Amino acid sequence: MHHAGRTRLLVGMEPDAQRPLDLAFARAVAWLEAVPERHVAPATGVDAVQDRLGRVLPEAGQDPAAVVGRLADAVEPALIASQSPRFYGWVIGGTHPVAVAADWLVTAWDQNAAMREPMPGTSAVEELAGRWLLDLLGLPATASVGFTTGATTANLAGLAAARHRVLADAGWDVEAHGLGGAPRVRVLAGAERHGSVDLALRYLGLGAATLVPADREGRIDVAALEAELARSSDPTIVVLQAGNLHSGAFDDVGAASDAAHRHGAWAHVDGAFGLWAAATPRLTHLAAGLARADSWATDAHKTLNTPYDCGVSFVAHPADAVAALGAQASYLVATASGLDPWTLVPEMSRRARGVPVWATLAALGRSGVAALVDGLVAAAALLADELGRLAGVEILNDVVYTQVCVTFGADERTAAVADALRAQGEVYASTSRWHDRTVLRFSVSNAWTDAGQVRRTVEAVRRAIDAVP
Ligand SMILES: *Cc1c(COP(=O)(O)O)cnc(C)c1O
Repeated sequence: MHHAGRTRLLVGMEPDAQRPLDLAFARAVAWLEAVPERHVAPATGVDAVQDRLGRVLPEAGQDPAAVVGRLADAVEPALIASQSPRFYGWVIGGTHPVAVAADWLVTAWDQNAAMREPMPGTSAVEELAGRWLLDLLGLPATASVGFTTGATTANLAGLAAARHRVLADAGWDVEAHGLGGAPRVRVLAGAERHGSVDLALRYLGLGAATLVPADREGRIDVAALEAELARSSDPTIVVLQAGNLHSGAFDDVGAASDAAHRHGAWAHVDGAFGLWAAATPRLTHLAAGLARADSWATDAHKTLNTPYDCGVSFVAHPADAVAALGAQASYLVATASGLDPWTLVPEMSRRARGVPVWATLAALGRSGVAALVDGLVAAAALLADELGRLAGVEILNDVVYTQVCVTFGADERTAAVADALRAQGEVYASTSRWHDRTVLRFSVSNAWTDAGQVRRTVEAVRRAIDAVP
């Protein structure tokens, strides 16, 4: 029987429920089309958006399509064009259209990707994505793969597995007894570890890491690490880094992991944007030895250019990940293998964020991912080269990967040139402190940043320099 109000299976929606979806599609496509030439910095701020949307919870409902239209109208002027090929702020990355498309399907399908058996469709795709990632990144084929919100939680997942293992080796069941009365766990990390490592350690009740000196590029001093490892036989976790935020430098993960293993320690690698060096034969000098660690964290939303949010946790010893992160409950449907998605990451209910990863890998192929990483590295090298020719510019790091740290003289002048550059609206790079200096940091993370975009970037920097007396 045809019933006007019930013909579409869209729970709680009116028959014209497609209108907000159509409108969202049109606005999204218009945004993506405009983003490369848009003023990079946001034109308005939080207050302007809230003024336009209204701050008071409406008493009565409103037309869903009108809500979507108003949302886009209010928010778009306040968006930062972080997908622009001339956006170099923090470490963000662009968006492959195929990944956006897959992400839309994930939203529409609305599967809870926690359980494998009841949600076989998206679980199958995520499993393939996981296997492909292990292959692409040269990691052990038997490692577990968990999709997290980002590298912060991927670091948390890897370090939780590490905490389990080193305490189990010391005869302590941390899952049963917690840390009260446990043997002290020592964490050794390079002086230039990322702040998310500190967070993960804090969440795990491990406190602050003991810092091991790093060299000028921020790489952990492996001899100093070895000496520190030899000082104590406490259960120990070593945290290494593939891709320093300022220099892009990589720790010698192979040698450091070997040292850790000689002392019974666990080696974890934060490779949020750097792990992808392993996907290209041109960067084997950076990636060699990466696979000798015990756990790794990375992001897909940075170097791979998928939309937010997607991190990945890899653990070489899956049983340790499951022991640390797997919950037992009668209502959960477990697989025979035990490697259910919810047992490998902190998140229990979650979206199938591994699906856009699969779509991106399928669309690019092995050669496309290698070309993506090679392209970023080539663009960073060209950028450093061309910027270095401008008067008064100093490149502070050895440009081995995607990061370029620049100064324009004294700190105040660097800050002023950075402000002038961002005010022009063509290029966005963020200011930071490194080696006790204010630096303008270019993180080349967007697949569309080619030589032409680099030239436009350098011209914009030249104008910014000229604009500051
Ligand atoms: C971005 C980043 C992180 C944190 O990743 P999120 O995705 O923001 O959680 C960790 N380590 C390094 C080196 C990073 O660049």
